[in-house]
Amino acid sequence: MVHCSPLLLGLSSMVGVIANPLPEQHGLLRTNDWSCEGAHHANPVVLLHGLGGSEQIGLRSLETWLRVRGLCTFALTYGSYAPQLSILGGLKPIAESSQEIAAFVGEVHRRTGARKVDLVGHSEGAFQALYTPKFGGVADVVDNVVAIAPPTHGTSFAGLYNLAYVLGHASREAVGALLHVVGCAACDDLGPEGAAVTRLNDGKPIVQPGNTVTVIASGLDELITPTTTAFINEPGVNNVYVQDYCPLDPVGHMGEAVDANVWNLVLNTLEKKVGRGPRRVPSQTELCLDVMDTDTSDIELTAQCLCKAQTFAARVPRASLPLTATFCHCTSCRHLTGGMHSTGVAWPGAADAIVKAQLAKYVSSPKLTLLFCGTCSSPMFWRERLEGGADAYEAFTGVLSNNPVPGLIRFKDHIFVHDTLDGGVAVWQRHLNKGDDAGDAPIPCYGGWRHKSEELDPATLSVKDANTAMDGTALHCRCKGVNLVLRRGAADFAAMDPAELPFFVEPGTHKLLAGFDACNSCRKMSGVDVVNWAFSLLQHIDYPSGDGSFPRTTPALKAAVGNVDRDPGLGTLAMYASSADVQRYFCSRCSASVFYAVDSRPDMVDLAVGLLDAPDGARAESVLAWALGMMVWADDVKGGWREELVDAMKRNSEAWRVDRGIPMNWAVIVREQMDAMAKAAAKS
Ligand SMILES: [Zn+2]
Ligand SMILES: [Zn+2]
Ligand SMILES: [Zn+2]
Repeated sequence: MVHCSPLLLGLSSMVGVIANPLPEQHGLLRTNDWSCEGAHHANPVVLLHGLGGSEQIGLRSLETWLRVRGLCTFALTYGSYAPQLSILGGLKPIAESSQEIAAFVGEVHRRTGARKVDLVGHSEGAFQALYTPKFGGVADVVDNVVAIAPPTHGTSFAGLYNLAYVLGHASREAVGALLHVVGCAACDDLGPEGAAVTRLNDGKPIVQPGNTVTVIASGLDELITPTTTAFINEPGVNNVYVQDYCPLDPVGHMGEAVDANVWNLVLNTLEKKVGRGPRRVPSQTELCLDVMDTDTSDIELTAQCLCKAQTFAARVPRASLPLTATFCHCTSCRHLTGGMHSTGVAWPGAADAIVKAQLAKYVSSPKLTLLFCGTCSSPMFWRERLEGGADAYEAFTGVLSNNPVPGLIRFKDHIFVHDTLDGGVAVWQRHLNKGDDAGDAPIPCYGGWRHKSEELDPATLSVKDANTAMDGTALHCRCKGVNLVLRRGAADFAAMDPAELPFFVEPGTHKLLAGFDACNSCRKMSGVDVVNWAFSLLQHIDYPSGDGSFPRTTPALKAAVGNVDRDPGLGTLAMYASSADVQRYFCSRCSASVFYAVDSRPDMVDLAVGLLDAPDGARAESVLAWALGMMVWADDVKGGWREELVDAMKRNSEAWRVDRGIPMNWAVIVREQMDAMAKAAAKS
């Protein structure tokens, strides 16, 4: 290959032939309008032209079409030896072009202030839309990737040479002359066993965590052959032929950039309506199946840990919904999650991605192994060894994406409720399913395994002679690597001026406030959709030996856990900082959530109620005062399938309170008063 400077001379003489210099453009046609405000908070879209194309040539028509539909679009000429002329892009080696693209994607992300950027590429640009997130360090800022006719697994040199001349404004002679001068490094890269093709298919996933990838191909593509080589065989990828929707569309490789049916598929994908057929295109209607009005799209479900190091994707056909989930209230599950139960669904995605992933493991029983993120401790899957040696995987519902699909999950039953002694939170989870009303039969509860134990009403469970002495409640994870005691500090609180009591101590009883939390971070951390935290001063948490040496402040706790010569009493307690001022403590061996600490409250922690071993039962009512009828951070789940679940838990707990004549919790009253004051202030 000759990459020589005389090129520029040669190029300038060719300009007249190759591309008419474009006049300054305005309005819809203006290039890269950084002040563009898209409709419906859609992501900005970066368009990536093919071999020999440019910012202006290749995807220009699609770009204009998308812009008319309210999207903010951005384009660049990449891989050109004459960037100042903005012509004949895509010739440089793929890796070099990829760096230019990555820089541009970063610029679009930064200058638009958007949360994420979408990529749409055609041909070589489609290859780049896959290659650049994988190798260019931009996967984090990318959401949707639409690859139109990518040579994912390479194509022939003749095919590539044809790509370069067949483009609209370029003449075959001019391109031929240019390639003769500069060569086509990209062609070598994309040829059979080319360097870039080999690298893209290096055995590690092409699809990056958090990215949604759609590959659109034509069954009649004459250059990417066989046409299936465009597709990516990884879970969660939406591989479609234009002819799946429009059987009579004769579009070939170059035509895919300017085909209205392809454009509609692109728009559907950017609007997260993957799999919906094209809208009616007047000029091409007769080519297409009449599928545009029914939503037959699959659900893209992901399981993702709090730190996002672990992401798994599954496609769920709508016809297979709802998924069904079981609550397990057993002692092990409570002490493994820190929640009041675990909740699992059979994982609808591929098992091999789980097998290959670097997940931490905790062997809970000979048949059951917990797979969790070793960094942030999110429990992700149960692996169950079946009779005959095969494995089945069940996902923790708390790490599942909150898809806007009402009724996505149906809650089938509660098992091992006997373990809770007092019914646990099953008493507040009897009517959770969308479409059920209070008159419907409640979700069945079993004392042990379903159908192997009697069905029971958890409201009838109680421990009459529980020893609720004040000498402390055990606080430990499943593996007891974290083994502590909560000393409620009743004596301390009784000696205090009632006006000085911490906000979480119930006046009179001095019980600790326990509540319901729908926050996205907490549910991912614990794997449980609604997390129950109680509050405690650190001075009331102790080692079982009772020497009072447990750290008294959150900075001291953070330092103690991070210390190389740490106190052996801390056991397996580990910490993940989910933001600059928040520390989340967990057991590094069995994954249990233990404490939530925030710098603004240095003398206290939220503690995971599931870790308490109160003699009166899982609800620990001898030491906790429950904020029934209140749900904090409920806005986090608005619009997704969880909204109904969270609302239902709130309603169920309030109905329980009213039925039993339990007075409204003081903290709920305080909060309602504060809300009312805020409303009044907003009005005046
Ligand atoms: Zn993680
Ligand atoms: Zn269990
Ligand atoms: Zn543990």
